[in-house]
Amino acid sequence: MNIVFITSEAYPFAKTGGLADYSYSLPKALAKRGHTVHLFLPRYYCVDKQKFDCTLIGKPLAVPIGSGIRWSGIYYTSYLEGVHTYFIEHDDYYGRYGLYDYNGVSYNDNAERFIYFCRACIEAIKQLAIVPEIIHCNDWQTACIPLFLNTHYANDYVLKKAKSILTIHNVGYQGVFGKEVLGLMQLSEELFNPENIEFFGNVNLLKAGLVNADNLVTVSKKYAQEIQETEYGYDLAPIFKKYNQKLSGILNGVDYEHWNPETDDFIPYKYSIHNLTGKRKCKKALKNFYGLKNENVPIIGCISRLTYQKGIDILINTLDWLFFDEKEVQFVIVGSGEQWIVDRFEALRAMFPDRIGVWWGYNEKLAHLIEAGSDFYVMPSRYEPSGLNQMYSLAYGTIPIVRATGGLDDSIEQFDEKLKTGNGFKYKNNDSAELYTTIRHALRVYKNKVIMNKLINNAMLFKRSWDDTAKEYEELYNTISQNN
Ligand code: ADP
Repeated sequence: MNIVFITSEAYPFAKTGGLADYSYSLPKALAKRGHTVHLFLPRYYCVDKQKFDCTLIGKPLAVPIGSGIRWSGIYYTSYLEGVHTYFIEHDDYYGRYGLYDYNGVSYNDNAERFIYFCRACIEAIKQLAIVPEIIHCNDWQTACIPLFLNTHYANDYVLKKAKSILTIHNVGYQGVFGKEVLGLMQLSEELFNPENIEFFGNVNLLKAGLVNADNLVTVSKKYAQEIQETEYGYDLAPIFKKYNQKLSGILNGVDYEHWNPETDDFIPYKYSIHNLTGKRKCKKALKNFYGLKNENVPIIGCISRLTYQKGIDILINTLDWLFFDEKEVQFVIVGSGEQWIVDRFEALRAMFPDRIGVWWGYNEKLAHLIEAGSDFYVMPSRYEPSGLNQMYSLAYGTIPIVRATGGLDDSIEQFDEKLKTGNGFKYKNNDSAELYTTIRHALRVYKNKVIMNKLINNAMLFKRSWDDTAKEYEELYNTISQNN
């Protein structure tokens, strides 16, 4: 199929989070499966044209916005294996330090920057004479593409045959702006109603995508269910419910070239499902790194953005309690984010300095060592659309202890000691007492080496590659392109 994939970030060009990994891995996996894939991104300042061997192609691109037009250049690279990658260059909008903000403060023209990007991608598709069967958009930044396709381009001979898909990676980010952005979009007041893009007196760009896209995907089946309820879907929950016939969940995958204990260059000792000696040595290296003693004590690891979503505050309450009741357990974390979480963690560490290790900041190498050297990995998320670390943990034989939400619930199966099935431990409610009971259960299992080895084996047999994810998208593309 001919697929156009539009995103506001993709590794290795520009990355702030999981969307960049998704936008790198999925297009590549689709291309490997034989599809023609065109990837569109803004040409941010950080996209080094020389390094990525970008060339200017086509004619100057005239993009309508507000009351006039603004001109852009289109750059092309074949840097990403098998994927035709295009960058929309417009330095006034994208030639800046951060992608969406500068030092944590959002740019005040983000609506204009991304409305322009959406319009520019459609104009570029036309200018380059791409004939897409699928136009795949991601998150609020590209969510007004389906709206434009249904309005400005509704009679375009080529585009009207294309089907639009919007993948929602996190409903926590919606792109809500004042009514004046209607003018930037060159759309009439008629659309400013609750059935379309109006949202409590504002314009909600994510909602524009939900209403107008031919199909909606979230990054796990469970999250697709959850967002139909207010707790997870917030004020958009009724919209998700209304459109649930076109909504489904497809779990993200793991890049096993990068996350594989047999080949991982970030870890000091390699190992496999057949021989875990290297894992035991990694545990020692991990404890050395954090200055923790006593190799035989089980260790729980955590790698996280420090935000409310990740539930680290709940974990702190649990550990406070657990460490008094249970002497034989240690904990390590690498994290970056909000200071209140760091402060609370430091207070806990002051009470148990020889049992808790912390490292504040972003550290990819250490993240790999935590995956390899820990016995358990904890994710107490309030919500988790897909989650990747629980799947990396499985690959490293590190047993996940997770809250049963979103992709955590889809990928982790409760371990049953009698049947010896399952690959981890999970609990239902967002509650430190439930997390406490679940960790104690895991620690009991740890004491029985035979059962624990069976659990590690189950975990390491789990596989969810990007090719698995791509296959599911491919089926969906096929289905929707047959619908009229
Ligand atoms: P999210 O996208 O919500 O942050 P995911 O679990 O989907 O959560 O993916 C997070 C990715 O970022 C993982 O690859 C994880 O290892 C990595 N990561 C998060 N925080 C850090 C950190 N402080 N240091 C290193 N890697 C981190």
